[in-house]
Amino acid sequence: MSDGILSPDALVARASARGITRLALTDHDDVSGLEKAGEAASAAGILFVRGVEISTGWEDHSIHVVALDIDAEHPALLSGLAAIRAGRLERAARIGRALAECGIHGALEGARAYAGNAALISRAHFARYLVEQGLFRSRQEVFAHYLAPGKPGCVPHVWADITEAIGWIRAAGGVAVLAHPGRYKLSGGEMRRLLAVFAEAGGKAIEVSSGSHTPEMARHFAFLARKFGFYASGGSDFHDPGERLELGCFPPMPEDIPPVWRLFSSADRNDTTH
Ligand code: AMP
Ligand code: MN
Repeated sequence: MSDGILSPDALVARASARGITRLALTDHDDVSGLEKAGEAASAAGILFVRGVEISTGWEDHSIHVVALDIDAEHPALLSGLAAIRAGRLERAARIGRALAECGIHGALEGARAYAGNAALISRAHFARYLVEQGLFRSRQEVFAHYLAPGKPGCVPHVWADITEAIGWIRAAGGVAVLAHPGRYKLSGGEMRRLLAVFAEAGGKAIEVSSGSHTPEMARHFAFLARKFGFYASGGSDFHDPGERLELGCFPPMPEDIPPVWRLFSSADRNDTTH
């Protein structure tokens, strides 16, 4: 329901066909796919974990916090997510204007057409549109030229404060997980400060084995998880059947760090299989 290609039902069907037995759906800033996905998962005998990936800000960085095993109806969480989506709409208009200043016109309308969920326009939709227009060969190329931090289409934006967002997750009974920490381009000192802020706010786990991590990053974040006492999380961060990593495929989790699902109250927290 955010920047993935498949509908919630189609995603669960793909998981089922691939023999996946436990699945979390974590749309960006939106929980509207959870009900359908949960029903489909239960019909397919898949253990379903309700989640959402919250866009937050820490200092000048945009940091994603994955919430797992949430009560997806909790008012504090829902109102926080609604505020982030409203901010996204306004940001999308600014991205459209910034691209127009670079001579790329009509990008906002184009991106909108790719956003199945009108309330959730992301840079990924702009990238898809510019590729379809033949302006670039791949979405990566669009990001490299226009949408990555420091490029004109990556407009400054105030996301939810990370500590507040972790508060919503905890209020909703969920577990806060720092998503793909290897993506943020932080110095060693900045990463340690972020992890300290994250732990202080009640964050419990970090993604170690992520589709966004190189093997070296996975080793590094396993080291930091041990050092800070975080649980380890993992996931394929699957968006698209044409993607590098297939649904459910991610490198093995570190065996000596407790996996995040031990913290779940509504799912199979005692299942230690990876
Ligand atoms: P947004 O939430 O609007 O800032 O967009 C973030 C999304 O853009 C991510 O979840 C990815 O799907 C996509 N994205 C971010 N960086 C890149 C990149 N360098 N190449 C391709 N996709 C990216
Ligand atoms: Mn995404």
